[in-house]
Amino acid sequence: MSTLISPVTGTALQDVRLASAAEADAAIEAAHAAFPAWRAVSPGDRARLLRRFAAVVDEHLEELAQLEVRNAGHTVGNARWEAGNVRDVLNYFSGSPERLSGRQIPVAGGLDVTFYEPLGVVGVIVPWNFPMPIAGWGFAPALAAGNTVVLKPAEVTPLTAIRLGELALEAGLPEGVFTVIPGKGSVVGQRFVGHPAVRKICFTGSTAVGKQIMAGAADQLKRVTLELGGKSANIVFDDVDLEAAAAAAPGAAFDNAGQDCCARSRVLVQASVYERFLGHLETAVSAIAVRDPADATSDMGPLISSGQLAAVRRYSDAADIAVRGSVPTDDPLSSGFWHPPMVALPRSPRDPVWTEEIFGPVLSVLPFTDEADAIRLANDTEYGLSGSIFTRDVGRALRVARAVEAGNLSVNSHSSVRYWTPFGGFKQSGIGRELGPDAPHSFTDVKNVFLSSE
Ligand code: NAD
Repeated sequence: MSTLISPVTGTALQDVRLASAAEADAAIEAAHAAFPAWRAVSPGDRARLLRRFAAVVDEHLEELAQLEVRNAGHTVGNARWEAGNVRDVLNYFSGSPERLSGRQIPVAGGLDVTFYEPLGVVGVIVPWNFPMPIAGWGFAPALAAGNTVVLKPAEVTPLTAIRLGELALEAGLPEGVFTVIPGKGSVVGQRFVGHPAVRKICFTGSTAVGKQIMAGAADQLKRVTLELGGKSANIVFDDVDLEAAAAAAPGAAFDNAGQDCCARSRVLVQASVYERFLGHLETAVSAIAVRDPADATSDMGPLISSGQLAAVRRYSDAADIAVRGSVPTDDPLSSGFWHPPMVALPRSPRDPVWTEEIFGPVLSVLPFTDEADAIRLANDTEYGLSGSIFTRDVGRALRVARAVEAGNLSVNSHSSVRYWTPFGGFKQSGIGRELGPDAPHSFTDVKNVFLSSE
């Protein structure tokens, strides 16, 4: 049993039963047993079931959103978007069962065709920062491609995933097709790695744990998709509307209180406009409403846990802070896990506040001299998840977008994740891509069949 703690007030929320290794094995074996029938469901019927699942999620949107506000401290605006994202991702991938076409390849003496065969049981391991969307990005395309899914939510944020598991049954998905197993990474997560019936692991989380999973999966040549950490750059050239670029920077770093793998937490500003940019940034950061996430006017809520708060403070206490926002001080919120939004000025490009993923509301700003310097500084990291480029010069936008080593870049915008475009990391930010038109392929193996005409 584990007691969930409210991030908003720091008090006990409810108890959740954690599965043992034996219970995880039983769920994996039930998913394995459900696989032959699920893969045999006709594409049209599988699509209909996924659309029905999306409709049931839609009917429970507000309930799911409120659950996330309580469990994870997400602002209610974000939480509603997150629940809607699960619905949209299910609807999008419900379009793929009938479209998962193989190829017909010209050969002599017969017919050659390829099939995208489902893998079997897919294990989805989810972190605590976006419990609903990240779950959906894994389970929706995996189910659409004909796999059964076992899903382990993060220890501290299991509530919406548990509810999604119930809603799947309510929508008519057969027992064993989609099973949520709350539990520890070292217990349930490890069974996904070790159990031979699990054919693929779709993991989102820290780079350190991702490496362990990849090493463990090697033993059975298990497929992996890894979505890991980031320390993304927001590069601002001197030809832009500086006030607008500065106004947009906090949202790109402090959304979800900075607990976002795509957070643009390294801001690179051309030296000629650096001081002016900082002035505008201070105005923007001071305007962030850090308050009860259940309040619709809240821009930013608390961090997920006391441990995460302590981890973020280790960075902010040691850094030179130029701008510091506020946190709620009234009871009962004062005992929650609040950290103010902050702007740090790194002492050098080796300062930990600049190099390490903080996963909290702390962004750092450094000046650069020219395009080459901006690219060098942006790429001076083992991470490569996302990033933004602000310039009015189209040629430069294109050159820099091609040069920055990251999987998801936006120009004059901070958007990074659309469910119909591919998402994933370069370098140590991950392997494989989620979302977009090709995602179901990564939950299949290609089979080639030759039929002789003799
Ligand atoms: P984490 O790596 O500690 O945990 C992630 C999940 O893995 C949890 O469910 C956890 O229980 C499980 N786990 C832990 N140890 C395990 C083990 N030995 N075997 C199997 N499973 C195990 O990460 P976190 O602290 O929950 O999340 C924060 C991290 O996630 C950050 O680094 C962030 O950048 C990353 N993240 C990446 C993306 C992305 O798409 N690239 C998205 C969100 C979060």
